[in-house]
Amino acid sequence: MKLAQSFSRLGTETAFEVLARARALEAQGRRIIHLEIGEPDFDTPTNIRNAAKKAIDAGYTHYGPAAGLPEARKAVAEYVSKTRCISVKPEETILVPGGKPIIFFTILALIDAGDEVIYPNPGFPIYESMINYVGGKAVPLPIREENGFDFDPAEFERLLSSKTKLVILNSPANPTGGVMAEATMTRVAAALKKYPDAMVLTDEIYSRVVYKGKHRSIMSLPGMRERCILLDGFSKTWAMTGWRLGYGAGPKWLIDAMAKLATNDHSCVASFAQIAAIEALEGPQDAVTAMVAEFKKRRDVIVKGLNSLPGFSCLTPEASFYVFPNIKGTGMKSKALADALLNQAGVACLPGTSFGSFGEGYLRFSYANSVENIQKALAAMKDALPKLAVPAAR
Ligand code: PLP
Repeated sequence: MKLAQSFSRLGTETAFEVLARARALEAQGRRIIHLEIGEPDFDTPTNIRNAAKKAIDAGYTHYGPAAGLPEARKAVAEYVSKTRCISVKPEETILVPGGKPIIFFTILALIDAGDEVIYPNPGFPIYESMINYVGGKAVPLPIREENGFDFDPAEFERLLSSKTKLVILNSPANPTGGVMAEATMTRVAAALKKYPDAMVLTDEIYSRVVYKGKHRSIMSLPGMRERCILLDGFSKTWAMTGWRLGYGAGPKWLIDAMAKLATNDHSCVASFAQIAAIEALEGPQDAVTAMVAEFKKRRDVIVKGLNSLPGFSCLTPEASFYVFPNIKGTGMKSKALADALLNQAGVACLPGTSFGSFGEGYLRFSYANSVENIQKALAAMKDALPKLAVPAAR
């Protein structure tokens, strides 16, 4: 008995593996500070929790339509229209269990064997995993520190071809915290004019965790609305990772295809969770404001601390709750350093290579942890590093 051959092409998310190793060390009595998992350490705001409890009592405990309850799709359409300065109708939206299924369904719905998909590298590992799984050709778009963790539009233009079926963009970005500049967006939109068959998946799951200015979506640029599928959701903005609730917005033909996949996969999202989602989108937003202010404080602590470590240098990201320090000065490879920090300093983080080959020379820290724990992690690393580091070649 054996798995299908296609399974050998399916990747995974290392964060969950590192978490399991960290938990195993904890079971042996070690104290580990968790800076590996990308999940807000706040509770879901009370008004959203109460809305779900009320919805259960009101009978929202049955199957609903595959693409979502009409009232939830209407709320998503209004929210996306307002936040992206475009006009989206309810039938151009779908609610799914988390943001991830929008990646899964977009790739399943659009990509045939041999089709090219441009995706950010380093980037969220599920992009590359799914492209390979369906037999597509994964074309990495390098995200470089020297560009402030944006990409070089000229490099993007060189990667486009008549075989490009899909371009995946992620701004604000995991793992770097980078934000796509407006000039980059304009160049992307202009370059795509020559490739009318290429669609764009714009992953904007961190759209509300922004410290400077306002989130800007490529969907709002002329000509982009019809070719973009938006991914956003509730996990990060309203600390709802365990609810499994996200959404897509895009052309009706693609949303209808996703609804068909939903029928074949999970039937529908929990009905009472969708009622809570309306409260998240339309209710008071002070919990989000407070969470982002707290993240900003932590960002400043971790960036300053990382820059004081031997062999580290770290840019200050403008969004998300990740930092992606350059560790080339330690003389160590990313994986070896991440392993050593876990085993010897008790700090769990991820090697940059968990996000693709262009992540070598970097680590990713999630600062979804208290200032106190971040400071303890920095002190433990400061203590451990001189014992680990190989002097950098000059
Ligand atoms: N996209 C990016 C860039 C992410 O970082 C994540 C989660 O870490 C997701 C999508 C998936 O979010 P969800 O947990 O809602 O499925």
